[in-house]
Amino acid sequence: MEKPKVGIVGASGRMGRALIESAHSYQSLELAAVVGRPGANYIGRDAGDLAGLGVLGLSVTDDLITSVPNLDVLIDFTLPESTLSSAEICSQNNCPMVVGTTGFSKDQLGHLEALSQRIAILIAPNMSLGVNLTLKLLEMAAKALGDDVDVEIIEAHHRHKIDAPSGTALQMGQVIAQALGSDLDSRAVYGRQGRTGPRERGAIGFEAIRAGDIVGEHTVMFAGQGERLEITHKASSRMTFAGGAMRAASWIVGQPAGLYGMNDVLGF
Ligand code: NAD
Repeated sequence: MEKPKVGIVGASGRMGRALIESAHSYQSLELAAVVGRPGANYIGRDAGDLAGLGVLGLSVTDDLITSVPNLDVLIDFTLPESTLSSAEICSQNNCPMVVGTTGFSKDQLGHLEALSQRIAILIAPNMSLGVNLTLKLLEMAAKALGDDVDVEIIEAHHRHKIDAPSGTALQMGQVIAQALGSDLDSRAVYGRQGRTGPRERGAIGFEAIRAGDIVGEHTVMFAGQGERLEITHKASSRMTFAGGAMRAASWIVGQPAGLYGMNDVLGF
């Protein structure tokens, strides 16, 4: 049986290069297209060469419109605007999509949700197995501890990250707020400075650190009177996200239109 053909958008990015490497070695997918930013100086270069793997015989293209009809699934880790334009092209070609991009506005997420009525779209701000298991642990902890504890989410990423707090930290906050029977908007406090007054009960606080080459670290603190529980996840390689994206891509081929998350892929 032929392997599903996968395309990757964001060829030269930190994740793009990890995705090329992961797709190349992933047994159940065939790397069939690598798409870069239109006008970039690496267009036409060999994708394997760009990712530091040696020549693969597949050139980086900037023509997504021509590439998508030949694909069974597209993976996009770029920028919100670019991901939306990829999703439009996928929806016109009935091509399912795996979205790793973070930093979407509510409107942009609504747009992706609308397109998911036509094709299968999986959106996950973090594709690692460990983080998705952490989300389950957070749900358990929040349900057990309720509003008796203060919840703070601290995340750290490399100096080049352009959105804050991270999509993963926000997803963690959403899971906790939901487990407490509310929504994140009504609880979130983003950073603190100056004369803040005492902490509000029920708030979910976020702090974002940007430094050096940190791949991605998240700690959720449940702090009560006399004790504190901390749940931490640390990613040490982008290959963990890329591997999760491959698993998601092979899962989504053949799924009906709809909006999916990593919990659908992992079965929890
Ligand atoms: P990066 O800046 O290194 O790469 C982004 C790439 O997108 C760049 O190469 C850029 O040229 C490319 N790009 C921009 N517009 C484009 C277009 N129109 N067509 C094709 N390519 C285009 O960033 P990164 O660290 O690789 O992260 C990318 C995204 O993935 C971010 O939103 C980040 O938060 C997210 N991310 C998600 C996960 C996850 O597991 N879901 C993990 C890590 C990073």
